[in-house]
Amino acid sequence: KTYLTMMHFSLRRQSSWVQLAGHQGNFQLSEGGEVLKLYSEVEANCLDCLMRDPLRPFVPQYHGMVTRGEHCYIRLEDLLSGLRRPVIMDCKMGVRTYQEEELVKARTKATLRNDMYQKMVKIDPSAPSAEEHAQKGVTKWRYLQWRDTTSSTSTLGFRIEGIMVGVTMFDSPLCFPVCPQKAYHSRLLALSDALTNSPFFRTHEVIGSSLLFVHDHSSKASVWMIDFGKTTPAPDTSKLRHNVPWAEGSREDGYLIGLTSLITSLAQAISV
Ligand code: ATP
Ligand code: MG
Ligand code: MG
Repeated sequence: KTYLTMMHFSLRRQSSWVQLAGHQGNFQLSEGGEVLKLYSEVEANCLDCLMRDPLRPFVPQYHGMVTRGEHCYIRLEDLLSGLRRPVIMDCKMGVRTYQEEELVKARTKATLRNDMYQKMVKIDPSAPSAEEHAQKGVTKWRYLQWRDTTSSTSTLGFRIEGIMVGVTMFDSPLCFPVCPQKAYHSRLLALSDALTNSPFFRTHEVIGSSLLFVHDHSSKASVWMIDFGKTTPAPDTSKLRHNVPWAEGSREDGYLIGLTSLITSLAQAISV
């Protein structure tokens, strides 16, 4: 089962650029088929590596940094450019969406968070213990671990962050000259191959990164890897496998568990 954990997006009419997830202030449109995302060193380092990696065809082209006003941005290829009324889906990959460092930091803090308690109650009123209800607070450590169990993240290795369907009543799936599921399926198989050969993937813990599915009514359908703000080099030379469950300290992210789940469900969708 999948949950739509976040469904806010901003529509910018002139260009029909759509942002499915993330903080709205983090993005700016730019001319020339680019989007600007607020700079983070972690993400810029990843994109630098990715432009020289077998994964490059699966990542938006990265054109370096630019300053706008007081802020620095990374310049990314706009993946929606050229698409008309696109259908977009953001799937956050992996069996956990927090970094091990976040958990370690959170463990040392016994502070009770009312905001996190409120978010918890909103999703599942029965999730807090009697004690947590009485305190009207939970620790961040507790919240982080609980949150991933409320979606398909911990079971399927991915969760849907948002979907945007730009269709009207005249658009039916029959209108697609190419069934997007088929294109998605073969694109994910190709991604799977590229991941196997990727030095970047072998050496990075990929947390909170998404696969962005986009298609429109022409034959354009593709899948892209985006969002490397929490993707960091694994601390030692041990290679990550990405296809095994996570145990604290293992650094495993379960990215391939999610990819396999997606490929399996697409294969089922095609066969029916
Ligand atoms: P979070 O960490 O909360 O997931 P974020 O601020 O790191 O979000 P991203 O996940 O990178 O932001 O992007 C948010 C959304 O913006 C995506 O779901 C997608 O809809 C859109 N987006 C991001 N990068 C691109 C791109 N290169 N081209 C087109 N759309 C994009
Ligand atoms: Mg994201
Ligand atoms: Mg992010």
